[in-house]
Amino acid sequence: MDNQRHNNHGELIRVRFAPSPTGHLHIGNARTALFNWLFARKNNGSFILRIEDTDFDRVKKEYEDNILKDLKWAGLNWDEGPGCGGNYGPYRQSERINIYKEYANKLLSEGKAYKCFCPEEELEKKRKESLSKGLPPRYDGKCRYLSGEDIINYEKQGIKPSIRFEVESVLPFNDLKAHDGLIEFEDMVRGKMTFKGSDIGDFVILRSDGVSAYNFAAVVDDALMKITHVIRGEDHLSNTPRQILLNQAMGFDIPCFAHLSMILGYDKTLLSKRHGATSVKELKEEGYLPEAVVNYLLLLGWSSKNGREIMPMFDAIKNFSLERVSKSPAVFDIKKLRWMNSSYIKNKDITELTELASPFLAKKCISIEGIDKNWLCKIVDAVRDNIQTLSEIDKYTGIFFDELPVPSPPLKGVEWGGEADEVLKLFKEKIEKEENIAEDVADKIIRSIKEKTGLKGKKLMMPIRVAITGKTEGPELKKIVAILGKERVIKRINLIQESYKYLI
Ligand code: GLU
Repeated sequence: MDNQRHNNHGELIRVRFAPSPTGHLHIGNARTALFNWLFARKNNGSFILRIEDTDFDRVKKEYEDNILKDLKWAGLNWDEGPGCGGNYGPYRQSERINIYKEYANKLLSEGKAYKCFCPEEELEKKRKESLSKGLPPRYDGKCRYLSGEDIINYEKQGIKPSIRFEVESVLPFNDLKAHDGLIEFEDMVRGKMTFKGSDIGDFVILRSDGVSAYNFAAVVDDALMKITHVIRGEDHLSNTPRQILLNQAMGFDIPCFAHLSMILGYDKTLLSKRHGATSVKELKEEGYLPEAVVNYLLLLGWSSKNGREIMPMFDAIKNFSLERVSKSPAVFDIKKLRWMNSSYIKNKDITELTELASPFLAKKCISIEGIDKNWLCKIVDAVRDNIQTLSEIDKYTGIFFDELPVPSPPLKGVEWGGEADEVLKLFKEKIEKEENIAEDVADKIIRSIKEKTGLKGKKLMMPIRVAITGKTEGPELKKIVAILGKERVIKRINLIQESYKYLI
């Protein structure tokens, strides 16, 4: 059903991601953005970015800037929206206030909406009463049939009304008995969904301050922006019947809906701060690569036919379909993301990886200024197999930058005084004879020591490793040797030979 270029009305596919800039881009929202983006790209459709910024108390420009930045970082470019314009703008709801007023007034004049003067305290009290009786907190319709005179009186007192949508003005259009009417739709992920109209009281579409409520603005925007498919989090499922009614009231086409399951933490509760990083910004700062994050997000609720997990964007576009999106909640597993990140780190173009790793080295006070780019690339290449995130990059780079990494006694991992001394002695002798020690030369030397001494594995490698790095683990030995170069390797071996002389 979703592999179509057009919706049921033959229009080009248009989807939107509509974040509210009240915080950083949450992992769940990023997944919503990704699925919309993939759906658009797969179907040659358009991906629209709309900023839902009418909650003036909570919205911050800084959050909007960050959301845009993080979407770009993840490669989720938009075809219309802030920064790139489009034919259906403006794309910030704060710039569309008058459009919502116009549509709300239209509903008023058609008798599908009415002015409500009920004070907030009274509404709150009634809401609580309903809840305490176990009833849904529906508006009781007090202002629905106010006379013209009542309205004038309220207005004379300077009371600013909100505008409420009259649910029953539409439900009978469905040929369903008002209040017993059902609102049904086919969710592209969850299948047939049915809601009881009687649970929905007349709801506010325009607040008394003249600002549109979420449901109303979303419906007006989706219609005017010609959105064909609304793909969003399951937390919006209960809004959908309201939005369907509003669409009907205004004579708009109803888009197709797809609600994505929630994302849970390892303990199966809703993913939150308690579970660690929950925003794209945090993941970026911890040194996850955008490709890995996007690939991981793809698996949060979607799976490929053959179970393939590592799937770069290009293949994801080809393979994505809403049919394979799961109804069950997805569990965010940081260990899996780390594994995936290490795989992308291993395969990333080394120049690009070095570029990305540089700020992380700088953060760890490793000065890379003036360092030869090629040499730095070699270092990053040597350590990339040992790390899962870029923030771990300094774990082994010290062995190249620090002047003399002398391990403090006891010299863990090696028992000096026997075979280990012999290995080191031979190694130094052979290196001294070489002009330079590229990887293949280092490899050849190690093999020849193996033949000569009959030692292998740890017994062979550990003395060399500890002597030249001061550590018992790390990147491949031949790579370390080649990067350090003849002079530094010999210097370090000399130093360790000097120091253990006093220990044994
Ligand atoms: N602004 C809403 C949110 O961030 C978007 C809801 C929707 O996609 O309709 O949750």
